[in-house]
Amino acid sequence: MKTPQNVEATLRELAEKGDTLNCYIYDTTEMRKKIAHLKNIMPAGVEVFYAMKANPHAAFLAAALEAGARGIEIASLGEAEKAVAAGFDASGLIYTGPGKSKEELFWAVDNSIRTVHIESLTEAHRLNAIAEKAGKTQDILLRINADFDIHEAQTTFSGGSKKFGIDEEKLSSMLPQIVALESLNFRGLHVYAASGVLNVADLLKNCELVFGMAKQIEADHPELLCDIIDFGGGFGVDYLETDHDFDPQAYADGLKALIESYGYQGRTFFLELGRYLAADSGWFCTEILDIKDSRGKKQVICAGGINHFRRPAALAINHPLAIVSLEKQIVFDEQESIRSESVYFGGPLCTGADKLANNVYVESADIGDIAVFGLAGAYGLTMSNMEFLSHERPQEIVLS
Ligand SMILES: *Cc1c(COP(=O)(O)O)cnc(C)c1O
Repeated sequence: MKTPQNVEATLRELAEKGDTLNCYIYDTTEMRKKIAHLKNIMPAGVEVFYAMKANPHAAFLAAALEAGARGIEIASLGEAEKAVAAGFDASGLIYTGPGKSKEELFWAVDNSIRTVHIESLTEAHRLNAIAEKAGKTQDILLRINADFDIHEAQTTFSGGSKKFGIDEEKLSSMLPQIVALESLNFRGLHVYAASGVLNVADLLKNCELVFGMAKQIEADHPELLCDIIDFGGGFGVDYLETDHDFDPQAYADGLKALIESYGYQGRTFFLELGRYLAADSGWFCTEILDIKDSRGKKQVICAGGINHFRRPAALAINHPLAIVSLEKQIVFDEQESIRSESVYFGGPLCTGADKLANNVYVESADIGDIAVFGLAGAYGLTMSNMEFLSHERPQEIVLS
């Protein structure tokens, strides 16, 4: 990875002040481009939502709004409030998640959000009672735990025993019960099989299986129409820098062909994308406080660790890394440095779990330089252990 010029310039400016450097730098240019591009290439009926759990920072919500995302996929009341504060209309919110509280469901109904994605029979009954009391009808999608699995994916949300959705094989017995609930309005299906998929064919296979499911439901229940089909997220990010980026054009072409072969023109299709939109709009930048040799291996200690950037440790992967060399800090004459070797990066936390990168090749690094971790715009600070060891919160600097 190369550190983008504007990120590096910002780091050099910050370094002038002399404070220990530990921050996220955001530049949402790529995110805006991606949303605009997807809107351009996707078949008619496809609506792009930003799955804000990837990064709930206001800059990312503003980017989604300004680039023309149809709305926000939310999974909590807190997310709903942030989306509305960012300027999204409640009618652009779609609400997923396996455990929605009664307060959260009431908010959704009261604000007439677009769709609530029902994850269980309990939730259907709970939402129906709330809507009935409010004298309203709420549009719903049923989230299905499909009986298939995408093996290559980084995380799967479908197949086997899962906390998400309603098992596919229970659908035919549950559907009449749910449809009978008078304050709910069945609009279609939500099947999110897997996230982090780089292979377009795998994701299209998922789309095809979901179409098959819709067709079966409509055959069994002629009074029902799956007018909205939500494919979830899933567009992958090439974290391991294998040069195989997700190909949105191939996906768009494949989806268009599928829509035509099923005669589903005129229906609505939701995409809820998180990492694909946000990942390359953020960098975690942390100062190298110490370098030591421990039994033949170099350990690089940074100002921030899993308290600020947990993802590499949580997923046991190395994110792309670059070093921004600043003026060498001489602490004492024999201090260690890194020259063309594979080393280990960790943070300041008093736990062995505090790892940022394992056995990663570095050309040159010295104490006082900045380690810059790329593809940190998604699932960065938001999924980190911020409270752990009570370090200061890292700054989040927005370039654009
Ligand atoms: C997390 C999540 C997403 C976004 O997943 P990405 O892999 O980041 O695109 C979309 N939909 C739902 C329901 C999710 O839980």
